[in-house]
Amino acid sequence: MKEQILIVDDEHYTVELLRYNLEKENYGTLVARNGEEAIDAVQCHAPDLVLLDVMMPELNGWETCRILRESSKGGAVPIIMLTAISDEEARIKGLALGADDYVTKPFSVRELLLKVRKCLDRQRKINLLRTKGQEMETSLRYMVHEVRNSLSVIGGYSSLALKKDDPRKHLGTITAAAVHAASLLNDVSLLARLEKKESGSLSVEPIDIVAVTKDAVDMALDAAKKKRIEIAVMKSTPSPVWVHRTGAKQVLINLLTNAVKYGREGGRVWIYFDERNGWTDVSVKDEGCGILPDELHRIFDKFYRAAGSEQVKGAGLGLYIVKLLTEGMGGKINVVSERGTGSTFTASFPEANVTHNSIQVVA
Ligand code: ADP
Repeated sequence: MKEQILIVDDEHYTVELLRYNLEKENYGTLVARNGEEAIDAVQCHAPDLVLLDVMMPELNGWETCRILRESSKGGAVPIIMLTAISDEEARIKGLALGADDYVTKPFSVRELLLKVRKCLDRQRKINLLRTKGQEMETSLRYMVHEVRNSLSVIGGYSSLALKKDDPRKHLGTITAAAVHAASLLNDVSLLARLEKKESGSLSVEPIDIVAVTKDAVDMALDAAKKKRIEIAVMKSTPSPVWVHRTGAKQVLINLLTNAVKYGREGGRVWIYFDERNGWTDVSVKDEGCGILPDELHRIFDKFYRAAGSEQVKGAGLGLYIVKLLTEGMGGKINVVSERGTGSTFTASFPEANVTHNSIQVVA
């Protein structure tokens, strides 16, 4: 979508000159002829940047800038002041009132366009950081809520068990809550180690990936049963691959957990192996909701959750861990997905009987 620039000026010629040059650069434009119109336009259309003339009758540019900065939608919008006055006082006044930059009239179109681009680039980076901050906050809030909830389940059912004749019937609930809390905390501590790239934590050795996969399947069976999902492991005997045993198991557990979480109730999950050019692919395919093409490039980002995932429990860390682990072992991770049809995640690992560069072998 085009970025929208609001031009605020009462001079017809300047408006047309700005509009022509901005649209030539593929920006969308909106026009306000005075300060009041500008304030309304920012509230209604939330433009990406405002070019604000200082010398306007009634509400001048400085006053407009001050009011915009105090408003909900104008607080963060980049503002470039346009002024015929080139004296220092006027420029400083605009900047002090919260303008991001200024251009003095008559202006060079090239200089103005450069300033517009720089302001928009900066704003885009700020918006990205803000979104990431919000994603992190949502994720941390989720984890705190889940751990607290698990502890209260453990506490509540334990005291119930102490009062009952047969305490064993509560042990299943207590264990499930403890496992859930532990797995959240494990994710956080594993992440900390992976991000610090602790030496030796991902040393690889030749491993039978089918055996590791079967261990991971065992861990996903309970959740699969609850959704009546069958997990089918295709028969195959690939040669050993260079992986870190626990790391590879965690990769497959995370992929399988997602295939079940986002998979179709009563459906199937397939795991199959392919050998090609010295690599072994382990693919986990589900029949779930799939992922939209414009979200695929973000699903491995830390804390990212695709739209519509709110109904499913998650902190947005599983695939980020998968990526760090797979790449940390010298492997690759890939996904093919279609909305409404399902997803296939493929982890590729180097075969152990083929010579690969940069493989760090266990001592
Ligand atoms: P979480 O599952 O905790 O949200 P992940 O990092 O494991 O976090 O996944 C990130 C996002 O990718 C999920 O929120 C979901 O939107 C999407 N996703 C992951 N795996 C699948 C899958 N098999 N099918 C559909 N969407 C998926």
